[in-house]
Amino acid sequence: MKTWIAPSRQFANLTWKQVDALPRATTLLVLPTAAIEQHGPHMPLATDTLINNRLLGAALDLLPAAMPVYALPPVCYGKSNEHIGFPGTLSVSAATFMAVLRDLGASVAASGFKKLALYNTHGGNSALVDVMARDLRAEFGLRTFSLFGSGGAKFAGLSDQERAYGFHAGEVETAFLLEATPELIHTDEYTTNYIADVANPKPLKPENSPANFAWLTRDIAASGVLGHPDPATAENGALWIAEAAKSIAALLTAMFEYGETQS
Ligand SMILES: [Zn+2]
Repeated sequence: MKTWIAPSRQFANLTWKQVDALPRATTLLVLPTAAIEQHGPHMPLATDTLINNRLLGAALDLLPAAMPVYALPPVCYGKSNEHIGFPGTLSVSAATFMAVLRDLGASVAASGFKKLALYNTHGGNSALVDVMARDLRAEFGLRTFSLFGSGGAKFAGLSDQERAYGFHAGEVETAFLLEATPELIHTDEYTTNYIADVANPKPLKPENSPANFAWLTRDIAASGVLGHPDPATAENGALWIAEAAKSIAALLTAMFEYGETQS
């Protein structure tokens, strides 16, 4: 799989002696979490993992070279059981996912590091990442952070409907990979499905509201797409990657600085 993380930002490139020489109280380690799961007929299984790597690599490129922030190798497998029934989806259970994060957090703490950011780009992992950020803080005293998706980037030009319900393999994800890995996008295989209509709101929503219904992709989107990929362009992908990278770099900087005054 392609990587956009500069070699100098890859933790796994270091020797143990180099790790031993890092300023371990202040170094920020970033653990990417993503998924290998169906992304419709037009995107690769590794979509969330590729996007994570593309955005994190671009964000790390914006940090001062002297700032000790390193990307750990990603946890590519996530909790993807919303996509069961689609060939190629490789999912781990919530218990397994949390156990992996717990064990990696234990190793990070045992190596003498104090700061760990969990950077997640798969929605099915989000609740677990928040749980584990707190548990790792409580169990190991690590200063932990959670960071999601595009770091709050605004994505100018996106429709309200896509912004609300373009959950999966929609315009944003497609634009990201049209920029990053155009050779992996099957532009003649686009399909559109929406789980809800922003113009006709119902009391029960799929996500992010006072009352949600739990959904499985196969129940509501035969193609596996939740969104509308057609308007995606590589040009918008490049703009949105740049915007996301800026937001993520600012948030990583805040995490790096956090605690110098707070705790
Ligand atoms: Zn995705």
